[in-house]
Amino acid sequence: MDHLWTPWRYAYVTSAETKARPGVPDSLSAWPGDLGCVFCNLIASVDFAIANGMSADQAEAAGGLVHRGKHCYICLNAYPYTSGHVMVVPFAHLDSLVLLDTDTAHELIDLAQRTERLLERLYHPHGFNFGINVGRAAGAGVAGHLHLHALPRWAGDTNFMTTIAETRILPEDLETTWKRMRAAFAEK
Ligand SMILES: [Zn+2]
Repeated sequence: MDHLWTPWRYAYVTSAETKARPGVPDSLSAWPGDLGCVFCNLIASVDFAIANGMSADQAEAAGGLVHRGKHCYICLNAYPYTSGHVMVVPFAHLDSLVLLDTDTAHELIDLAQRTERLLERLYHPHGFNFGINVGRAAGAGVAGHLHLHALPRWAGDTNFMTTIAETRILPEDLETTWKRMRAAFAEK
């Protein structure tokens, strides 16, 4: 399991958390705040841009936000393990599964199910990972804000995807993934 779960942590520790105002996309940096959390900063900077006249599509594309539910949103992982790697994130800044209220916990799984269907249709993978890491010791890259990773897997993908020096070879870029997933979520 080790090689499977640690890349998420590794990418965040090396990239996201060392940045000033982690989670704020460069093009949404007009938002003046810093909540000290990748996921809270992401949604706040997207909402700020929309409130200040940016189109929802443009702001949400910048943030990699593919879908909003009532209690959770779905965004692309900026450091994907495979193409189609998304995260289902409760809006509430809470650090464990037991702290989620029932509606939020149910929606988290509802959205994971929708994601599985969409990834199946879009990517035809051989399998999936759905994962929640609670606590830094368990491999959570963003330990303060619970999130569920969902990603398609292919037989042998650990061999060709994982290369040296944090570089991953992915068949499509994030912008393409966002467009495909955004369109798929909008259909239903
Ligand atoms: Zn947060």
